[in-house]
Order: sequence, then structure tokens, then C-alpha cells
Amino acid sequence: MSVFLVLEQSGGKVKRVSWEALAAAHRLAPAQEITAVVIGAETEALAAEAAAKPVGKVVRVKHPLLKTYTADGFSLALHQLFQSQSPTHVVFPHTYQVRDYAPALACRMGQVLIGDVTGIEDGPIFTRQLLQGRLNGSYRHSGNGPCFVSVQAGAFRADSNIATPETHDNAASAPIELFTPALDPSQIRTKPGEPYRESAQTVDLGSAQRIVSVGRGIKGAENLPLVEALAGALGAELAASRPICDNGWLPMERQVGSSGQTVSPKLYLAVGISGAIQHLVGMKGSKTIVAINKDAEAPIFEVADYGIVGDLFQIVPALVEEIQKAKG
Ligand SMILES: Cc1cc2nc3c(=O)[nH]c(=O)nc-3n(C[C@H](O)[C@H](O)[C@H](O)COP(=O)(O)OP(=O)(O)OC[C@H]3O[C@@H](n4cnc5c(N)ncnc54)[C@H](O)[C@@H]3O)c2cc1C
Repeated sequence: MSVFLVLEQSGGKVKRVSWEALAAAHRLAPAQEITAVVIGAETEALAAEAAAKPVGKVVRVKHPLLKTYTADGFSLALHQLFQSQSPTHVVFPHTYQVRDYAPALACRMGQVLIGDVTGIEDGPIFTRQLLQGRLNGSYRHSGNGPCFVSVQAGAFRADSNIATPETHDNAASAPIELFTPALDPSQIRTKPGEPYRESAQTVDLGSAQRIVSVGRGIKGAENLPLVEALAGALGAELAASRPICDNGWLPMERQVGSSGQTVSPKLYLAVGISGAIQHLVGMKGSKTIVAINKDAEAPIFEVADYGIVGDLFQIVPALVEEIQKAKG
């Protein structure tokens, strides 16, 4: 088995979703058979970051024309790498960038991309959700050539990538190789503009250990103090589903989900949140999920470890009172 993992970066650091994809790669092969790939014009720091993880080796794909991302540049460069090294599997995080270029890259190599994978069983058999998460589909790769797979954010736990003697012979650092693709400016059809600069985030939900997250069940901004009290009692960060942020009741940086932040706290307490797929992808990597919802059929209960069916306006104040009592 030869599994190549293509890492994505932001601001010179490997993105957390890339380490989730590494956890997925470990479901396919032992660390020694995994090659992490970093791609760009300056990739030394990224390669060093990757080499400290449980992987067999790191390949730096380096070329001045890869300074900024373009679908043509990335797919041409990786095509050349995979032609020369013949991986059995190529794993990506399922990001917007990967959605942009990976299908074209797979197609170039006569393959398809098994996209947005949420589970990997022996075989390997890949699971994808269909019809907004109502059905699970099982996919197996057949034929020659690499099997291209992208994995959904939150589906695999990044913190399972801790290098141990069992997973990594040389936990200090994996060897790093350089690969220089042959690229010509005429092959790159897009001219990237200034990258979009996200507003500085003052809330880092990604590293929060406890999160109380509120949804449309709260009915109005005037009721938010109720969940703020619960978050305060638990020493938790306050987060929200998208409608709460769309309505301006809480700032956008507190939104969890596919168009918000991905979180994996020890405790995620969802209050009045239905559990739409776009919300679940941002939080289902949480260790313990507790849901409060008056609808016993709400999809959030399918991912919850503990569920309370009832009216949040009664349950939340009672919970706060009990927590205060327990604290003394
Ligand atoms: C492209 C795209 C991207 C998206 N990105 C995101 C994203 O990043 N994050 C996100 O969250 N959503 C996202 N969405 C929206 C998503 O599809 C859902 O619409 C949204 O998550 C629903 O939020 P909600 O659960 O708060 O509201 P609802 O679906 O309206 O659910 C409210 C829940 O509260 C319960 N409830 C009502 N009253 C009470 C009460 N008194 N006590 C207890 N429970 C009560 C109801 O039973 C219900 O289950 C996205 C959608 C699209 C199309």
C-alpha cells in the first residue's frame, strides 16, 4: 500500500482538516506507508511540520508557479508526482480548494474522486452520505490507478495522530524529498487576484474544550442570556447554528458548521438545534455531545451521546441551577 496525503495550508501552517485527513489515511495503511505531500513555492516550514507527524516520508512539491493556488497548477504538478510514484490511494481533506481541483486531477488519471467521505471500513470501503445525510452509500475502488478520496471535516479526529513508537519508527522526523514539476506559465489559465482576507477571529472555538451552542429554538436574541448563563456555569464558549448568526444575534465567528468553524471539544451542548447536515459536519467530532430539543425526532439526537427531549426554556434554567448547586 502506498497512500499519499495532500496537505492544505493557510497562512503558512498546515490546516487542521489536513490532520483529520491523516487520521483517515491511517485507516488505510500504517504510518510507514503514508507519504505527506506539501505543495507551493516555499514549502520548507510546511514540510518540517508534516515530518513531525506519524508518516513514512514527506514530499515537497515545489515550483514558483505554485506560489498561489490555481486548479491548473496544482492538478498538473500532482499529476506528474503521482505518475512518477504510483500511489495506491490519494487522500485529501474535503475543502473548497480540493473540490476545485481534485476531480480534474482524478479525471486526468482516468479515475473518479470519492468525495466527502465520512468513514473507512476494511476493504477498504468508503462511506459517503447521500440525500442530505438520510442515507449512507458504500463505495469501493476497482480497476488500476490510484483511488482518490477526500474526507469530510470533523469525520476523523485529528488528535488521533499522535506519533507513538507503534505508529512511527522515527517520531522525531520523517525524511523529506523534493519534487520539482515541469510547469509552464502558458499551462495556467487563471490569474489569481488578491486572496480574500478573512476578518481576524477573536473567538477560537477550534481549541475550546467545552461549547454551549444555541439554535433557532431560542426564538429571539432577547432569550440569549439563558444560554449565556449555561455557558458561564460550565466555563464554556458560546457558539451557534447559522440562523442565529445570519440574524445578527451572535457574531459570525461563533457559527459552527460547513460555512462556520469546525470544532471538536470534549463537551458540545446543543440547545434548540435541529442537527442539519451543514451543522453536524462542524461538530460531530466532539467527544461528548449533549442535545436539548423538544422534538424527539430531531436529527441531532442521532449524533448525541445524551439527549434531553423537552422545552429548553424549562431545562436550561434547571440545569444552570443544578450546576451552581454542584459547584457549591
Ligand atoms: C450552503 C449552506 C451552508 C450552511 N452552513 C451552515 C453552517 O455552517 N452552520 C449551520 O448551523 N447551518 C448551516 N446551514 C443551515 C442549515 O441547513 C440549517 O438550516 C441550520 O443549521 C438550522 O439551524 P437550527 O438547527 O438552529 O434551526 P432549525 O432547523 O429551525 O431547528 C430549531 C430546532 O429547535 C427546536 N426547538 C424549537 N423550540 C424549542 C424549545 N422551546 N425547546 C427545545 N427545542 C426547541 C426544534 O425542534 C428544532 O429542532 C447551511 C445551509 C446551507 C444551504
